[in-house]
Amino acid sequence: MREAGSLEELREVLGDCTRCQLSQNRTKVVFGYGNPQARLMFVGEAPGRAEDAQGLPFVGPAGKLLDDLLAGIGMSRADVYITNVVKCRPPGNRDPQPVETETCNPFLREQIRLIGPGVVCQLGRIAANIMMKRTIQISKIHGQKFIGPGYFNVPVFHPAAALRTPSTGDLLLEDFANLKTYLNQDETPPEPPAPQPEQMGLF
Ligand code: URA
Repeated sequence: MREAGSLEELREVLGDCTRCQLSQNRTKVVFGYGNPQARLMFVGEAPGRAEDAQGLPFVGPAGKLLDDLLAGIGMSRADVYITNVVKCRPPGNRDPQPVETETCNPFLREQIRLIGPGVVCQLGRIAANIMMKRTIQISKIHGQKFIGPGYFNVPVFHPAAALRTPSTGDLLLEDFANLKTYLNQDETPPEPPAPQPEQMGLF
């Protein structure tokens, strides 16, 4: 596979993407934002209205809460990298469909490879299901650390859920404290597996 040498190059490969039907209704592709060498990466579900208009992830009300949660552990957007499992807004903010997440997944995988984070925090059940490749119950496993391919997965509640339910906000605060602990522990993540032949067709 011709792997991208940088996030900028990967963004060029993604281009004005029409690989799935989400391209028909979106305004801007929302590739991702942040530190290309981040040790902590966040993966949300999909851009919403504000993100679609600005071309940046988590810039609406949920993004404001994410900024506050980061500030609470002494970090900012400039320290981390933020993206989504799909890079285009689903119409009416519906859940992304499997064909859409599968089509976009090589780009998420490449972003993770290029950044090389130690911890990937999934914001919400949908991102966690996709990245952990199983149906999870976020209420049971939020804030825990799971071994992933070359990094640790830490699924948490979606910030939008915390905006609706204050008690979920309290759990998110605890989970962000856990994230800080995991980063401080600085455990070496397990080696990623060698690429499989079916992963090699991105370019
Ligand atoms: N919700 C998400 O999952 N992602 C965003 O970028 C914004 C809101």
